[in-house]
Amino acid sequence: KITPLIAGNWKMNGTTAALDELQALAKLLTTGEAPRAMVVLCPPATLLAPACAKTASAGILLGGQDCHAANSGAHTGDISAAMLADAGAQYVIVGHSERRADHGETSQMVCAKAEAALGASLLPIICVGETEAERDAGKAETVVEAQLLASIPSAADQLEIVVAYEPVWAIGTGRTPDVADITQMHARIRAILTDQFPTRGNTIKILYGGSLKPNNAREILGIEHVNGGLVGGASLLANDFYTIISSV
Ligand code: 13P
Repeated sequence: KITPLIAGNWKMNGTTAALDELQALAKLLTTGEAPRAMVVLCPPATLLAPACAKTASAGILLGGQDCHAANSGAHTGDISAAMLADAGAQYVIVGHSERRADHGETSQMVCAKAEAALGASLLPIICVGETEAERDAGKAETVVEAQLLASIPSAADQLEIVVAYEPVWAIGTGRTPDVADITQMHARIRAILTDQFPTRGNTIKILYGGSLKPNNAREILGIEHVNGGLVGGASLLANDFYTIISSV
């Protein structure tokens, strides 16, 4: 049995004032019914260290939103996996579609980042997902398969990783795929993972992301091979995020 995971991705949102929202989430999680899912929050890197004090007692784990493939060096503006770990992170998102689109990250680069994460004892949350044009052309599964094969390090058969399926056209749009489409894609991803990783492929968590909201979380999180969610906009508000966590 796979323990579900709900991860929040704040993206480039939040200054120290947002720690109040985190405090509110911690309060909901400690006073309400014990969550059935693991909870990970990925705030901007600037908030990781101050967030630790708010999250630890509520069992909220922290993650970065990206890391560099190298441990250190002349890479102005970048952050290494070791730095994220040092600031309190246990997870790091790699290969988010916004990184792939805005920073030209290829699956090979994503794989190198995932390896760096594992090397720093962080769990990488490796993101894949097709664009709307690719889905319309009937290529969604082929695109996702190619991304998976090239983005996941071979060490995933020995070390824990997480996969997140985020159709690009569903991110921040309020549109989600049909239940049937999510079912089909997650089953396909599971088949690829078990084929590629005979030891651990069966237990790798596969998250769904893209306009996951309080009003659709129960249905989407109930789909077979959906082992949790990666939540953008709705993770910024403690009440909404808590509702999604409680939908598991
Ligand atoms: P939204 O939930 O805002 O659609 O964002 C999803 C996402 O990209 C999470 O990484």
